[in-house]
Amino acid sequence: MMDIKKKDIKEFLESEQSALNTVRTLLLFGRNSATYKFALCNALMKAKPSSELVASDLTEDFINEFISHYKNNPHQFNNGSTSLTKSIDQYLSSSKSHSDWSDLIDKAEKVIYLNVIDRFQNVGGGEIEKNYMLYEPLGTNNDKASRKLILTDNILQILENDVLKKKVLDESHSRWQVVEEAWRAGVNPNTLEYDKQNEIFYSNCRNQRIGLRSAVDVLSPYQKGKCFYCGRQLDKEGGSQSPSFPDVDHVFPLEMLVKLNIINPNGIWNLVIACMKCNRGADGKFMTPPCIEYFEKLLKRNVLFVEEHNHSLRNSILLSLNARNKAAVTERMKAIFKHFDFIKGWKPVERF
Ligand SMILES: [Zn+2]
Repeated sequence: MMDIKKKDIKEFLESEQSALNTVRTLLLFGRNSATYKFALCNALMKAKPSSELVASDLTEDFINEFISHYKNNPHQFNNGSTSLTKSIDQYLSSSKSHSDWSDLIDKAEKVIYLNVIDRFQNVGGGEIEKNYMLYEPLGTNNDKASRKLILTDNILQILENDVLKKKVLDESHSRWQVVEEAWRAGVNPNTLEYDKQNEIFYSNCRNQRIGLRSAVDVLSPYQKGKCFYCGRQLDKEGGSQSPSFPDVDHVFPLEMLVKLNIINPNGIWNLVIACMKCNRGADGKFMTPPCIEYFEKLLKRNVLFVEEHNHSLRNSILLSLNARNKAAVTERMKAIFKHFDFIKGWKPVERF
């Protein structure tokens, strides 16, 4: 039997047939034991759109991307260090001569080819299906020239389109920051808090407040950049008065939650991204709780977050709801919804 997580990931992947959605699935649901997948993703976005690459085409960009994060925040892993970071440490403490750099690149290339490129397209315990793949790796031996990747039309579509490429990079950077900050703050389970005024998530670490990304950047990829309610495609570029501007919405209005003894009514468990019309337009949601359809959608998303181990969103949801596992999250959320189910829940007039 397929477990729930695998089924949900498959559904997420298959609900939108686009190259962007494939990359998004890999970034959101691929294994989070190290941040290598983000460095690889960013390096791939710098590749020339051609049908074939060799691993060495990606290595320098991969290492540069990884070092740019690693030197400021060594928390790029679930735990411990790796042979690759040992080589990077050695390089960073060297005189950084040309030959130090080539030594590092030599060591890195094999690791990248055998461990990162190979695993990048795995989610939910297996490789994604062939028609979604971004590349096919060929050759797994020590022979440098045979460390090839055949790029598929999926990734070529992105590489040939600057707007798509920017979207991928934005989502990758945002997600990377959230993951590394969560590991940095690993000593404190209360990793991610929402600052309503500035609409950002921040993390409390050793009494220091570290600003993360905007709540929109963090949550939007899970909604494929669409309004949680009406499905309208959202876009920040048009400015805050545009109908497609992404707002942060409290699914259960804050004022209604105050009496329910919820530790953090401002927590991620209760936040989604919505269009201006749904959030505050003429027929907007305002202070109404959602109808059951959207309650169930929110519950499903929260359970998905909780299933992601060592993930900041998981900790934030567990802590906010005073729950220890996904069963408790479900129970707690259902109890909250019960308080409102005598009110006719809100739904949008128009859907996209
Ligand atoms: Zn909407």
